[in-house]
Amino acid sequence: MFNLILFGPPGSGKGTQSEKLIATYGLKHLSTGDLLRNEIAAQTPLGLEAKNIMDKGQLVPDEVVIGMISSALDNNPDAKGFLFDGFPRTSAQAEALDRLLELKKTSIAVMLALEVGEEELISRLLKRGETSGRSDDTNETIIRARIAEYRNKTAAVADYYKKFNKVEVVKGEGGIEDIFNALCAQLEKKRQ
Ligand code: AMP
Repeated sequence: MFNLILFGPPGSGKGTQSEKLIATYGLKHLSTGDLLRNEIAAQTPLGLEAKNIMDKGQLVPDEVVIGMISSALDNNPDAKGFLFDGFPRTSAQAEALDRLLELKKTSIAVMLALEVGEEELISRLLKRGETSGRSDDTNETIIRARIAEYRNKTAAVADYYKKFNKVEVVKGEGGIEDIFNALCAQLEKKRQ
């Protein structure tokens, strides 16, 4: 199995690049943001609770997203590998993910970390908000709250994987194809 984390702040291109990476490498895409939006669309109790938090730009509780990821791992026993997108976002989530993967006798091979400047993130997210239908993309105050959550709680997740020498930083500004090629080059190094 080959498992990777695509890491970076909101608006850094994780969704776009995930689609290309899973198509190229045959990985199963696990995006906690997408899983939460599915719950909202289905109007489940979990979805209704999560929507209030997501609309403020805050992180939903660790146990909620860890539970969703645990079920997704169990539901995909034949996957060649997983691409985690938007997860883990806290150190507790990172530790839980390691434990879950260990139970399946596998681990994270690499964290690819996209780096994008803050003003570029905000303008990308506002632009995405014109078409994405995501309420958390349309309001600059919420966007700034999401970036603050990233800085305060999520950035430390990269330090966690750095301890194991698993982080590769890729510049997330420029053409989509160029960024994709840079990600593939880093990924290939870890596949050998
Ligand atoms: P995303 O689609 O990854 O930008 O996530 C949208 C929103 O879903 C975030 O702003 C959080 O409120 C919530 N969310 C997604 N993934 C996580 C996670 N791993 N931990 C906590 N909250 C999350």
